Amino acid sequence: MLTDRTRLHIALQKSGRLSDASRELLRDAGFRIQSGKNSLTARVENYPAELMFVRDDDIPTFVSDGACEFGIVGQNVLEEFALGQADLGYDLLAELGFGRCSLKIAAPEATPYDGPQSLEGQRIATSYPRILARFLERNGIDATIVTMNGAVELAPRLQIASFLCDLVSTGATLEANGLRALDTVLESQAVLIRTRRPMDDVRADIAAGLMSRIDGVLATKESKYIMLNASSESLKRITDLLPGAEAPTIVPLHGRPGHFAVHAVCQESVFWETLQKLKLAGASAILVVPIEKMML
Ligand code: ATP
Ligand code: MG
Repeated sequence: MLTDRTRLHIALQKSGRLSDASRELLRDAGFRIQSGKNSLTARVENYPAELMFVRDDDIPTFVSDGACEFGIVGQNVLEEFALGQADLGYDLLAELGFGRCSLKIAAPEATPYDGPQSLEGQRIATSYPRILARFLERNGIDATIVTMNGAVELAPRLQIASFLCDLVSTGATLEANGLRALDTVLESQAVLIRTRRPMDDVRADIAAGLMSRIDGVLATKESKYIMLNASSESLKRITDLLPGAEAPTIVPLHGRPGHFAVHAVCQESVFWETLQKLKLAGASAILVVPIEKMML
């Protein structure tokens, strides 16, 4: 019988930049989530899992403590947490391709900058003191880190610091505040993490099932199914051109001796240039179709 202790707990950001895409990923993986954005938890209707909606900052702690078996969080938050831990309590399972942003050094437009050495002896405001400290240390720079929990862009105007280190995606917020990005400290995107706490066999099976579905979704995002016709002389050249395809299926065409249909899953993007090369190599009737579901 499935009790509440058998259910897997997945920590997601309650509301913010990662919330919608995190839910969408689970939905694409076939998990039916009760809607309702205001509740703190939601059961997955067709899988023994429960979602816990929390502040993103709490996700690394919950997963490390084993309160939640899985979590989706930005690498920036995860890295800042990890730098404060002696032992890691989670494993990073997958980069999810959304929530992309970079942690950048910025300053008012007129501030001169010729690389990290310009930061020597300066005050830098940030919400990511550990990541910034590592960046400064790697560059052999001695500077003062001023930790702020938000509104870091205001630091120069408030004369709290002359530089800042903050998350940037489009740069619009920096620009609106008269600031200019100067250096990249960390590139970030949302990632899936799993607790290192041991699970009993039943839950380990449920966790493996969840992972294989998510892997499937991630794989299908890039993958395409490609079909084409080729003569026996051009087969080798054509199959060599297929991007990221292992062991294509080759079947004889009925009524056309010496001609074959080639079917393959390409694990990389298929560009027009590739199609042109395939055509030049002798392929005809080339079809590229998206893959809806995949289980590897
Ligand atoms: P919470 O209430 O959960 O603590 P928050 O205000 O800390 O939310 P959000 O602003 O929703 O967090 O950002 C969540 C994550 O989205 C960031 O930690 C980062 O990984 C990612 N992100 C993507 N683009 C940006 C951006 N332009 N600015 C800030 N974060 C971004
Ligand atoms: Mg937060």
